[in-house]
Parts: sequence; structure tokens; C-alpha cells
Amino acid sequence: MKKLIIATANRGKFREFEYLISKFGKNFADELIFAPETAKLIVEETGKTYSENAALKARAWFEKSGLPCLADDSGLEVEALGGAPGLFSARLAKGNEAAWLLNELKNENENRKARFAASLALCTPEKILISEGFCSGKITDAARGSNGFGYDPVFMPDGFTKTFAELEPEIKNSISHRANAFLNLLKNFAD
Ligand code: IMP
Repeated sequence: MKKLIIATANRGKFREFEYLISKFGKNFADELIFAPETAKLIVEETGKTYSENAALKARAWFEKSGLPCLADDSGLEVEALGGAPGLFSARLAKGNEAAWLLNELKNENENRKARFAASLALCTPEKILISEGFCSGKITDAARGSNGFGYDPVFMPDGFTKTFAELEPEIKNSISHRANAFLNLLKNFAD
């Protein structure tokens, strides 16, 4: 692809996609376009799954621009909260994800297991491709680190002793739910 719209209003996510495409998908796209700079388009996330929401966003941006579009939808699933906040990860926390989650878990010292989930949808004139990816870990007792966004300061991926917000962005971006979803997308793309 020559041009690819990244359908997100989140700069942090856009940078992650820039990194993922430069590291894993060299021939995937020559130029990435940050969606909010091209046009204003609000897509209601009315899907019942991450994949449905990602597809809604990718299709809407494709229809508006006529260019291939990549969209994602993601969330954090906390075992002790029965999988919440999940699809509502952005909406429930109202802008302060780490503080909100630490408060939700203040009486939960035993089970701090959680996983990030992401779905990606790539909409091109020929087809729409969907992929999923996950990253498992646990929720820390306090927020640590200043990289990243959202729940990064309280999420420690399995096999590491640092939170996503303390890890080098390159490390987070190589093991994250979005990285795994992107690697799965590349496999489907090549088929
Ligand atoms: P989305 O933009 O609808 O996919 O909302 C996803 C929400 O999940 C974000 O606003 C964050 O709260 C959370 N989230 C998703 N991915 C990450 C991540 O990599 N780090 C931290 N929080 C994330």
C-alpha cells in the first residue's frame, strides 16, 4: 500500500503503529496518515466485541477517504473484576485509568491477573481483514513509570518486573496486545 490511514484519535496508539509497521511490516505501507489530521469523523463504538468496533471504524474511515484504513479496538480485562473494564476501558475510567483501576482493586490482594486484548481491522478496496492479539500480566499495587498511556503505569506483563509505563517503548511495542494482533494481521495479509 502507498498510503494507509491509521484510524485513531490517540497519538500514543499512532506511534505504536508507526513502530510496528517500521519494525515488522516494511512493505505494508509507504506513508501512514494520522486520522484526525485528515478529517473529522466520529465513529460510535456500538459493537459487542473489539473486532466489531475495529471493523466499524476501519470501514467508516475507508468510506470517507477512499484510502486503505487500519483501525483498532482494545481494552484491559481484569480477572477479579469478571473481565471488566474490557470494551469499556476508556469510558469507565473517565480519563484516569490507573487511579480508577487501583481503586477498583483496593480490596483485592490475591488475584491481580489481567490481560490486554486488541483487535485490528484493515479495510482496503478489496477486502476487510480482522485479527486479534493479547498480552497477559498483572495489576501492580501502585502506578509506576511515565511512558505510554491509559493503564500502562499499573500493568506489568508476564516475565517482566517493570510496568508497561516503565519499559522502553520498543519493548512494550514488541510484546503488546497490538503487536501480537499486528503480527497476526500480517500473516493473513500475506495469504
Ligand atoms: P479504544 O481506543 O476504544 O481501543 O480504547 C481502549 C482503551 O483501553 C484505552 O483508552 C485505554 O484506556 C485502554 N488501553 C488499550 N490499549 C492500551 C495500552 O496499550 N496501554 C494502556 N491502556 C490501553
